[in-house]
Amino acid sequence: MIVIIRQNAKQEQVDKLREFLGKLGLTIHLSQGENSTIMGLVGDTTRVDPDLIASLDAVEDVRRIQEPYKNANRKFHPADTVVDCGGVKIGGGLFQIIAGPCSVENEEQIITVARAVKAAGATLLRGGAFKPRTSPYAFQGLHGEGLRLLKLARQETGMPIVTEIMDASHLPLFEDVDVIQVGARNMQNFELLKELGKLDKPILLKRGLANTIQELLMSAEYIMAGGNEKVILCERGIRTYETATRNTLDLSAVPVLHEKTHLPVIVDPSHATGVSRLVKPMALAAAACGADGLMIEVHNDPKHALCDGPQSLTPAEFADLTRRVKAVREII
Ligand code: PEP
Ligand code: MN
Repeated sequence: MIVIIRQNAKQEQVDKLREFLGKLGLTIHLSQGENSTIMGLVGDTTRVDPDLIASLDAVEDVRRIQEPYKNANRKFHPADTVVDCGGVKIGGGLFQIIAGPCSVENEEQIITVARAVKAAGATLLRGGAFKPRTSPYAFQGLHGEGLRLLKLARQETGMPIVTEIMDASHLPLFEDVDVIQVGARNMQNFELLKELGKLDKPILLKRGLANTIQELLMSAEYIMAGGNEKVILCERGIRTYETATRNTLDLSAVPVLHEKTHLPVIVDPSHATGVSRLVKPMALAAAACGADGLMIEVHNDPKHALCDGPQSLTPAEFADLTRRVKAVREII
């Protein structure tokens, strides 16, 4: 971190600043030029608030050189992290497809879809039991019963299950879940992230609707700071001024995240586009730009789905998608 000192700062103010920064456990390198004076702060600056330092009398400006996240940072962990999701490994060249309905609706639906997506090449089964719906009158999920049905589908197909948690108080219900999903709306629910940091279980962390890549990494850092290093990141589209798609899929986030972090990065083109016919082209693009996996919504009867039908693929469409994704991956 670099602190630029005001030109007219008094020596007494500069001394006080040095003392303040010294107390933070940082080594200070002072460089006094003819026109400007700068202080280079060396040490762990992850706990330093640059805005606070910038507000001090003697300070003109503060520039961060090192990212404020450490555990998620590739600089401190150059090798790709591989996350074991109930026996299915993701990251470091191991590509996985998570598929299933937006929400678990009944036994026949989840078993039918689970069998179909497995036959088409999916390796993990998704399905929401707790649904974050915009309207309180929309289907909210089957809760505990939904989790029971998901586990039944796991038993039938052997596929590990991925499902969303919305509140830390529900954690006892998620004990036997293979991967816990944190949805876009909860990406910055820091108390929830801290609780998930205490677990020894993979967490699929989705990017918030209006969050930057750095904020996504800081949320991953919350989980990792608690000791849980099994984090998978998911780009699922962000809110922009565009209305033709539900969200705007920020595919550049994939290579950017691969540069900044060692964690696996997957893409969800279903929530990103909101339109089933756009899911396949964006899934292919995600595979081409280096994603470690995909999350795809599939329903046996999309027109009658209780949630996200318009973006759900039929099993046949999903089978076509997986064939083409495989072909893209062979080329790249
Ligand atoms: C979901 O995966 O069903 C979901 C609600 O996704 P998101 O949090 O990305 O909207
Ligand atoms: Mn959905």
